[in-house]
Amino acid sequence: MPAISFEFYPPKTDEQRAQLDRTAEKLKGYAPEYVSCTFGAGGSTLSYTSETVRHLNQKHGFMAAPHLSCVGGSREEIRELLKLYRAIGCKRIVALRGDLPSGMGHPGDLRYASDLVAFIRAEHGDSFHIEVACYPETHPQSEDALADLKHFKAKVDAGADGAITQYFYNPDAYFHFVDAVRKLGVDVPIVPGIMPIANFTQLRRFSEACGAEIPRWIGKRMQAYGDDADSVREFGADVVARLCERLIAGGAPSLHFYTLNLAKPTQNVLARLGG
Ligand code: FAD
Repeated sequence: MPAISFEFYPPKTDEQRAQLDRTAEKLKGYAPEYVSCTFGAGGSTLSYTSETVRHLNQKHGFMAAPHLSCVGGSREEIRELLKLYRAIGCKRIVALRGDLPSGMGHPGDLRYASDLVAFIRAEHGDSFHIEVACYPETHPQSEDALADLKHFKAKVDAGADGAITQYFYNPDAYFHFVDAVRKLGVDVPIVPGIMPIANFTQLRRFSEACGAEIPRWIGKRMQAYGDDADSVREFGADVVARLCERLIAGGAPSLHFYTLNLAKPTQNVLARLGG
């Protein structure tokens, strides 16, 4: 079994909190290197992320890393959050630009994730291990694929220790991305972000928004299964497990699972990898 990490989102209702607890109980046994907790841009889930990080550490004994996005935030707000994370013992942060919810006005004091990484380093030196995001299939808003590679390198030059990719289902996208950034001199670990397939309709919608491609052959097969949830689940787990095997065989340093706070889809993949 490769080294793994799990990503959760901060629950907002009692029902969601109970679900996260059940999921955390089930996934604990895989001994993740760390878990991370997403952050809603624009401040709306500001407190939920820190609360959830605290809860994951205290109740479940994880080493939880908050995601922190700079869009829509002032330097002062980000400074306060960093102080809080330091005070509650966080050693690791996933630093992002984030996306402004439509209609939100102020872009914030820091424009890009590279500015946020530089800010964290300037304020806290090496106190945090910093992960950043990267996009093997190119970030949807970048001017072009080569510019996106350079912007990724700028985040590493600003002080990022590692990167987690947007999810993808074509391993060659990952291998080409890694080769390209190595040629630019980037030497930090690049961990594939793995999205298990739970609800295909939701995944398709999600993918359109974030620029992740679902290969036609996967879409066609899922379409044919329709409401046959067992077949969707089995086929999805087979596809994602094979992707993971190829990534590990090709040198991926570890795997980061987007759990969406559900245990089963991730467990179905890990079971096929011998977990
Ligand atoms: P950046 O690295 O700043 O890049 C954003 C865009 O700007 C890219 O197109 C890049 O090419 C371009 N760019 C960068 N620098 C420059 C420059 N100097 N000049 C011109 N263009 C430039 N979103 C959330 O809201 N909360 C989360 O918790 C969250 N977690 C995530 C975790 C992972 C692992 C990933 C892959 C994504 C996550 N996201 C999250 C989504 C992310 O916030 C969006 O993809 C966002 O649009 C870009 O964030 P970034 O940090 O990659 O931005």
